[in-house]
Amino acid sequence: MSYFSDRHNLCWFLHHEFASQIRRIHRLVGNAFADENYHIIVGNGSTQLYQAALYALSTHPGLPETCRPIPVVSVVPHYSGYPAATDVLRSALYKWAGDANSFDPHTTGGDHYIEVICSPNNPDGLLNNSVFKQITNNIHDLAYYWPQYTPITNAADHNIMLFTVSKCTGHAGSRLGWALVKDKGVASRMVQFVELGTIGVSKDSQLRAATILRAVADGYEEGGAYKLFHFGRKVMTERWDRLRQVVMANGAFSFLEYPPPAYCGFMREETSHLPAFAWLKYEGNLDIEDTENFLRTKHNILTRSGKHFGTESKYVRISLLELEETFNIFIDRMSSII
Ligand code: PMP
Repeated sequence: MSYFSDRHNLCWFLHHEFASQIRRIHRLVGNAFADENYHIIVGNGSTQLYQAALYALSTHPGLPETCRPIPVVSVVPHYSGYPAATDVLRSALYKWAGDANSFDPHTTGGDHYIEVICSPNNPDGLLNNSVFKQITNNIHDLAYYWPQYTPITNAADHNIMLFTVSKCTGHAGSRLGWALVKDKGVASRMVQFVELGTIGVSKDSQLRAATILRAVADGYEEGGAYKLFHFGRKVMTERWDRLRQVVMANGAFSFLEYPPPAYCGFMREETSHLPAFAWLKYEGNLDIEDTENFLRTKHNILTRSGKHFGTESKYVRISLLELEETFNIFIDRMSSII
């Protein structure tokens, strides 16, 4: 009933059962280090933790006042949530500065900027690395670094890593994310941000998520009845096959080249890349600049325009994570485009 879960833990609103299932699932999958060297911070979705990380990095003691607001950059196309969440309060601490590839760090007088790296990337599914080498101010958004989307080739060990149940198991409505953070000062300031915003995170949600993660991990133990990530890969493989077929048949769009299959330490075999989103560019004969508008008005298909991701509106992002019925209707409508 209390606000508190463990007064002695740095993240005092983190439920111990949720914490132990997070460490367990990372050990099982091998996608990130989550040992005792990392502080776990729970947030109301990784959305809240993204803001908490910006706050923590821009309030570092000793940071010269003159370097604020600190620029925040990410490679284009970048997740549409970053610019919006960064600039919503017009903070004096940090401000959105766009594409990391066209950003000149010298304009900030040194290392005072924050780079956000999303890998696999939303929207285009590519495996991104940091552009800049100042690793202490990087935020790694690893929401999609799970075996249903991409081969798990190494355990990530960055300073700040963000994960979410939204993409791991699909429970976006539980509004639970977690950050794995190396530096104690950064972790404390992130905790302070969540404390000031929402006095912690629902224990009910954490208990439910703990139950879900426990069921997933139990499924992989001897005698386990089901294997969630294998199921996820099967569904994603079918969907990508169907989408590729229909896109190739109508010839109006181009796909990106994805990295070649790689050995996945979790699946114990070579696996292919199956991003959560397809990133399509209109290449047909019609004079269409706004592909999102064309698909919505002419074909009743809802996508998200490239313009939200810092790029051209010839591109659209298509979700492959919809309900089966929705995906079936989508494929039917795509196949009617000539
Ligand atoms: N990061 C990325 C890359 C995402 O795609 C999303 C969800 N669309 C989020 C963060 C936000 O996730 P959450 O539901 O945990 O707030």
